[in-house]
This record gives sequence, C-alpha cells and structure tokens, in this order.
Amino acid sequence: MSALGRSTGDEDIHAHDRALMVNRHLEARGIVDAHVLAAMAQVPREAFISEPLSEFAYEDSPLPIAAGQTISQPYIVARMIELAEIRPGDIVLEVGAGSGYAAAVMSRIASSVYAIERHEELANLAREREARLGYHNLEIICGDGTKGWPDEAPFDAIVVSAGGPKVPEALKQQLAIGGRLVIPVGRDLQQTLVRVRRTGEATFEQEDHGGVTFVPLIGEEGWGVPEQAKAETNVDAETSGFANGLQIPSTRADGLRTSLSHVMASAAEPFGDLTELTALTERFAHHRVVLLGEATHGTAEFYDARARITEMLVARHGFNVVAVEADWPDASVYDSFVRDLPGPEVPAGAFTRFPAWMWRNGQVNDFLRRLKAINETISDPDRRAGFYGLDVYSLATSISAVLGYLDDVDPQTARVARERYGCLAPFRSDPARYGRMALSRGYAVCEKPVTDTLVDMLKQRLGYLARDGNAFFNAEQNARIVVAAEQYYRMMYYGSARSWNLRDQHMFDTLERVLEHRGPDSKAVVWAHNSHIGDAEFTEMGQVRGELNIGQLARARFGDDCTLIGFGTDCGTVAAASNWDEPMEIKRVRPARNDSYEGRARDAGIDAFLLEVGPEQKDSVREALAEPMLERAIGVIYRPETELLSHYFQAELSKQFDAWIWFTQTEAVSAEPQAHPHGPDDTYPFGL
Ligand code: SAM
Repeated sequence: MSALGRSTGDEDIHAHDRALMVNRHLEARGIVDAHVLAAMAQVPREAFISEPLSEFAYEDSPLPIAAGQTISQPYIVARMIELAEIRPGDIVLEVGAGSGYAAAVMSRIASSVYAIERHEELANLAREREARLGYHNLEIICGDGTKGWPDEAPFDAIVVSAGGPKVPEALKQQLAIGGRLVIPVGRDLQQTLVRVRRTGEATFEQEDHGGVTFVPLIGEEGWGVPEQAKAETNVDAETSGFANGLQIPSTRADGLRTSLSHVMASAAEPFGDLTELTALTERFAHHRVVLLGEATHGTAEFYDARARITEMLVARHGFNVVAVEADWPDASVYDSFVRDLPGPEVPAGAFTRFPAWMWRNGQVNDFLRRLKAINETISDPDRRAGFYGLDVYSLATSISAVLGYLDDVDPQTARVARERYGCLAPFRSDPARYGRMALSRGYAVCEKPVTDTLVDMLKQRLGYLARDGNAFFNAEQNARIVVAAEQYYRMMYYGSARSWNLRDQHMFDTLERVLEHRGPDSKAVVWAHNSHIGDAEFTEMGQVRGELNIGQLARARFGDDCTLIGFGTDCGTVAAASNWDEPMEIKRVRPARNDSYEGRARDAGIDAFLLEVGPEQKDSVREALAEPMLERAIGVIYRPETELLSHYFQAELSKQFDAWIWFTQTEAVSAEPQAHPHGPDDTYPFGL
C-alpha cells in the first residue's frame, strides 16, 4: 500500500525526525558547519507551520505559510546560513523573515538577529512564535528589507530569503568590513545564490553558489512594489502551482489546460460499461505482463475494472498469475480458494490487519468467486490462475510459515531457524521498533541470522523440492520476505527513498520468481497502486526523490513485452483512513485541481474512457501528454484538507503509462467501516 502521508507524532517523535533531518538532508548533502548542524537540530520546525502540515515538518521541502508565502526547505536554510559563516558573537540581519524559522536558527548561533518581513501578518506571527520559544536575542519588524535596518548596522552577516533582480546597494553598505551577504539573484523563477563579502570600505567580492528557487524580493531595491507585488502576495499556496517543492509557472499551465482537454477528448475511446472496457483492453493481451494501477486504494470502479480485464486475460489469453500489492501469506489463502488447493495453515484469517479493506471488500470477494469459476473450466492445473502477494509487510506471518514448513520437512533445520528468528521475536508486533533499535545501536543485529536461514533452505533445496515443489516455493518466498522485511524496517529510518526502493525491488523480484515458478509460458497481471505501476522515471518520484518502482523495473526487464495501465478519477467517494492504523472511513474525494491531468480529463467531458498513450498512439497526442502536470495519488490515507501537498505530484502521463483508464465519478469499495478491525474471521471473504 502507499503510505501517502505519515502519521503525526508527538514531541519525542519530532526530536527523532529532527535528528534524522540533520543527518539525512543536511550532513548527507554536504553541510559541515557544526554551528549550523547544532542549531538546525535544536529549533522545532513544526512550531513555524500550521498544525495540519506538521507531519511534513522534517521533509526536505518548502511548505506554505500565511500570506501565500513559503517556509524554505531545511537544506536551503542550512546552506545559506553556512555560506553566511555565522559565528557566536555575530550581529545578523535577515530580510524575508516569513515564518521566523531561519531567523530562529541563526539566533541559536549569533549574539543578535534582526529580521524584516514585509507582510505584517507574518511578522506578528513570527514574533509570537519567538516569544513562545523564548528566543530573546531576536527582533522582528515589518517593513521593506531591501533598505536594510540602518539603526542596527553594521552587520557581520546578512541573509536575504527572497529572490531579487540584483544585490541591493543599501544592504552592501550595511555590511561590516569582512561581513558576508547571501542572496538569491536572478530574473525569473530560477535564481543564483550569491555571496558578497565586504573586503574594505569600498571593496566587495562576489561568488556564485548554484541555482535556487525563491519567492520574489519585493521592495524598493527588489522587484517593484505596486501592481506586481499585489499579484504576488495574493497567491494562495493551495491554489498556485506550488507542489512538493516544485513550481509550475502558472502562465504555461493556463495554456496547457485548454488544449489538453481537447487532446484527451479527441484521443479517448469512451466505454459505457465494463464489458465494453474489457473489449477495448483485449488489445493488450499479447504482452507477457499487464500491469494495472489504481489512483486510490479504495475505489470500487478501479477494482471492478481490473477484475473484468483480468478475467478476460485468464479465460481467453492464458494468463496464470495474478500478482497483487498484498502480503504473500494472506494472498496464499485466497490462492488456495481460487485454485482449490489445500489451504495454508497460516495465517488463520487473511487480511485482518490495517488496511483490511484493500483486500477484504465486496469487489475482491466477487472477483475471487468469478476467478475460481474460470479456473474450474481450465482442465490443466498449471494453466489455472494463482493469486500471489508481492509485498514485504508480513514479517510475523512469514516467520511462522517458514517454521511451520521446516517443522514438517526438516525438524533439525527448524530448531536452528527457530533460534535464529528468535532475534526478531521481541519486535514481531512492532517491527518498526526493530528499525529504531538497529539505528541506535548502529548495526543490524538480526541481518545475519535471517539471511543464514534462507541460505540453509536454499542449500537443501533439491531435497525439499523432491518432497513438494509448491510447498517449498511458498516457504522459500516467506524466508525471502523475512530477509527483505528485516532490511526494510532498518531502511525506513534512513529515508523514504531507500525503503521505497527496497520494497518495490522486492515486489518486482517476487513477480519474476512467480513467473519462473509457473513455467516458461506463464503470463502475469499485476494489481498495484499507480505509484508502483506508472514508470517512476517520468514522475517526481524518480526525478526528484530517486525512487524506482515495479513499472520501471518491468519495462527494463520485459521491454515491449509488458504494458503499464494507469487509472484516474475526478470525484466521488473513497475508502481510506485519516491516519495510519485508524479506522476506514468513506471520504468524499475533492474535485480534481484544474492544473492536474485529472482536471483536464474531467473537462474532456466523457464519463469513462480508455486513453492509449503508448507507442500505438499518435505522436502529437503523446507529446501533448508528456508535458509535466500534477497527478493525484490517494493511498490508504486520504487527507483532503492538505490535498495538494499530501496527494499531488508531477508526472509526464504518456511516458509514465502506456494507457490510462478514466472514470469521472467513482465510489468507495464496499467494505464495512471497521469491519473485522482486529480478530480474524476465518470464513471471510468466501462466507463458506
Ligand atoms: N526565511 C523564511 C522562513 O524561515 O520562514 C522564509 C522566507 S520566504 C521564502 C520569503 C519571505 O520574504 C516572504 O515571507 C516574503 O513576504 C518576504 N519578503 C519579500 N520581499 C521582502 C522585502 N522587501 N522585505 C521583507 N520581506 C520580504
């Protein structure tokens, strides 16, 4: 599942996140000044933003604050302060106090900090925060900072946190001899970070320090005050092109909007019902792997469409693998049902943990029954479609499954494995705690024992296979999950990209292993969120965060023999939680933003359509849909109140997918809110 939006924590969790931010976003990216690192580790960034955004406080991204302005990303704040060479005893000026965060950080190093903010609302809020935090060596006033603060000059350092057309002369004159002025300078959205050093009464040295993007410096020696300034300051961060640190120039977005809807309308192939959609998608049946996404983890139309397409592929085109974004041991319970295999002993009931609704819902229930009926018409058991889980989250059940298998086939190895897995026993119910412990101890205590267990099993492979190939395959996969999960929970604390990549690599490797297991003619349908299926190289995930995914790995491995199909919707309802481990709710989906692919699709005016965007489509259509735009991703958590930050990212649709399936209006999956929240119900979902 996609954990889009992590849960908010308490004081302690923020302290931990802050330390990780310093380590991961600052030190790892080359910030070395010990004063800066210590100050950044001390100032609570969450105190400078609104409460709903506090879970993003230690991500390395700018965030919206009042008056349509932004608090800069932590790395940039640290970099500017490092360049300004602020030392204990210094007198410092900041222009563009905004939330007051950067000024607060500087106040933990310098002896006095003076900060100027042109928006009165922001200056007042920042002043209140500093008072609350007890930062008394810091003074904030409202005014035009391009003129400096002559009464308190000269300054040892001046930091300008907004981008101007040039270095303001007044600020240069208010530098002490030897003083440093750091400012973004440039004519458009992209500026250069400049450091000016005053070397004498009338002499200055200037150096460039790379490209940055800041909001405009508006004032006498900045961009003109009157009309332009009014327009700039009235921008509402939720409705502007501000997204996850990327800015989309609004004029370009406007132009794109009108034409993209026409392009979509002209290239779309409408369908009235799922039978028509199934007929339209039969053209993809010649691929060995068909990957089907979803734009949320709780929309009935996405499940039903994927089900119908899958049934067509199994019944008519020899697909014998249905591999889904779910835990392996739980999925094997469903597999036993659809293929009429002897039931696995663990777990007692499938998919009882959060987010249970993903695989315990009416749509999945109906699909499994139909898949079982199709399988019953296929006489060769090797051709029947199996149901497999690709995910990595089943540490405890996978351990039980391995031990259960070894107890049966090799009690001696089982005894050794039991002892080795004992290393993880204290963390079975909360594996994330193992990750924290490994981080604080600085080494991976359980890595060797779990790897040794897998290696031992592989060494005995031939003997085990001779007894029962399927049972060994299942046990081997569970042992691999334990190895991957041990790594996964440690990586979680080294940054989201590393754990994301480990998980998607594991899911892809599992898919490959299942294909191999099911024979040379095997063909697979994959069900996972768009964020796993759409090629990450063409989204913000890959381009900004360095994340890869199943779709990208599938293209690299299978080339033209795979196809990536995404899904989208405008509005309706969705099953999702507000926070991790909280009950499922039926939530209303906000109508899509105008500047998103979904907004453009809505304005195409067709209720449901298939849009080919792959190589079979006209170049002009593919080019138009390769323009970067926002795309929405709703995971098991949906936060409409911070939708832009929590759920939109940039993508290039025609490169990300080969086809896109659209439903303007969608409804939540049919799952009882809070049904089966804890204890298992053995008969679910079959009711037998
Ligand atoms: N350093 C801030 C923080 O930590 O929250 C973020 C600064 S934000 C990127 C830039 C700020 O500069 C905005 O709040 C904007 O209103 C302010 N600004 C722009 N021109 C200004 C000027 N001439 N004088 C003072 N403030 C200005």
